[in-house]
Amino acid sequence: MLYLGRRYRLKVQIDPTAKPVARMHGAFIEVTLPERDPAMVAAALMSWYRQRAREVFSQRLPVVAEPLRWVRELPSIRLQFMKLQWGSCSPSGRITLNPWLVRAPREAIDYVLLHEMCHLRHHNHSRAFYASLSRHMPDWKQIKTRLDSRAEEFLRIEVDRVG
Ligand SMILES: [Zn+2]
Repeated sequence: MLYLGRRYRLKVQIDPTAKPVARMHGAFIEVTLPERDPAMVAAALMSWYRQRAREVFSQRLPVVAEPLRWVRELPSIRLQFMKLQWGSCSPSGRITLNPWLVRAPREAIDYVLLHEMCHLRHHNHSRAFYASLSRHMPDWKQIKTRLDSRAEEFLRIEVDRVG
């Protein structure tokens, strides 16, 4: 299992009296379930990733936003599991982020946060948009290339092998 770009081993424990839950424990992500059921493993992991994403994104958001003078108040963030996209920014300025992004390294998370917050100023991919992005993250292209090259890995959850 990936979290912030690092690998953790998945451990599934069966406890007939337990409610499905996932938690991090040392080098493991431990899932406890009342019965062995791959769909339940996947649901517990998705719920864990969503919680971690909520936490990590809300920690990084003020840090990434701090030097952006056009961001006067922190945008609200909505989480949505997506297959092909890391994030989006609506014309009204609402940012949606993919919780699977929390599987990627922190630099990639910061890049996506910055990208979406640059859209609060430029609602397009114009030269001015890229100029803002480059000013605040000069090496964003390398970070994006690394993220894109591992996108399939970050977007695929390895539950098929654990059932
Ligand atoms: Zn964009």
